[in-house]
Amino acid sequence: MSQVYDRVALIGLGLIASSMFWAIKRAGLAGEVTGYARSEATRDTARRIGLCDRVCDTAQEAVEGADLVVLCVPVGAMEAVAQDIAPFLKPGTTVSDVGSVKRHVIQTVSPHIPDGVHFIPAHPLAGTEHSGPESGFAELFDNRWCLLVPVEGSDQGAITQLRTLWEGLGSNVDEMDADHHDLVLAVTSHAPHLIAYTMVGVADDLRRVTDSEVIKYSAAGFRDFTRIAASDPTMWRDVFLSNKDATLEILGRFTEELFALQRAIRTGDGEHLFDYFTRTRAIRRGIIDAGQDTDAPDFGRGKGAS
Ligand code: NAP
Repeated sequence: MSQVYDRVALIGLGLIASSMFWAIKRAGLAGEVTGYARSEATRDTARRIGLCDRVCDTAQEAVEGADLVVLCVPVGAMEAVAQDIAPFLKPGTTVSDVGSVKRHVIQTVSPHIPDGVHFIPAHPLAGTEHSGPESGFAELFDNRWCLLVPVEGSDQGAITQLRTLWEGLGSNVDEMDADHHDLVLAVTSHAPHLIAYTMVGVADDLRRVTDSEVIKYSAAGFRDFTRIAASDPTMWRDVFLSNKDATLEILGRFTEELFALQRAIRTGDGEHLFDYFTRTRAIRRGIIDAGQDTDAPDFGRGKGAS
């Protein structure tokens, strides 16, 4: 794969930005990658581990002369960052982001994008429960989807260029409307995270009753919930606050299903439970067949896997 942009600027240097950097380097997709993070500690770490060709002390310095600027900060911080960098973007630059919610980012960032600058929101459907500049790795996006969510009037050439970058990062790329994106993600990611947070919270309450047995005898079901519930608190707070309607809609449906299952248990309706679990098992098979997870025991998360 050859160079797609001369200069890429990554604003925010956490899991997603660092993975983008290593994957850009792996495939030689940019001439130079600059980076900026708000805290000195993160900038120091980035310099120490060679994350970015040039780590800048201001966002202004990082974006000056960039052909692509990617906002890699929590959804709730996107607007302030866009406002900060706007005066220093050169005409023809593409601004993109990696936020997990799209309608809110479009509403808050679009007004700050200067004329002549392309804004093309994006969301890589790839992540781990780890965060920070040292958590990234080049393979994060391999065979994962990246959804581009162009806004009205987005330039076709700029969209194609961004698509080429994400393909070079290893992703399969699709385009989606912002509201549809937010609903799909509420089902596949946001509501499941909230349920995991809740389950671990319940177990934590119970732990006080069971004298730590929840941790000691932690079985696969609970362990998988704890992995998801270890995800970054800032990022997830922002996801729920900014994708309120879709998440509440899905949680409403979830609650109804939960009541139905509760009722089946109480009334001893084994047929209902068996049919339900048979249907859900088929969904798992579909995800594995689509290459989006592994069939290995414990989700292939053996020794050394993240
Ligand atoms: P992360 O590892 O926690 O890194 C976040 C970065 O944003 C850090 O460099 C942090 O700077 C900076 N930041 C935090 N709050 C800020 C603020 N108020 N103003 C300016 N900068 C701020 O996060 P991440 O996992 O890479 O997530 C970044 C974005 O990607 C989020 O919008 C998230 O929704 C999206 N996303 C995440 C995942 C995932 O699984 N993690 C997957 C897909 C998309 P300091 O280090 O200096 O504090």
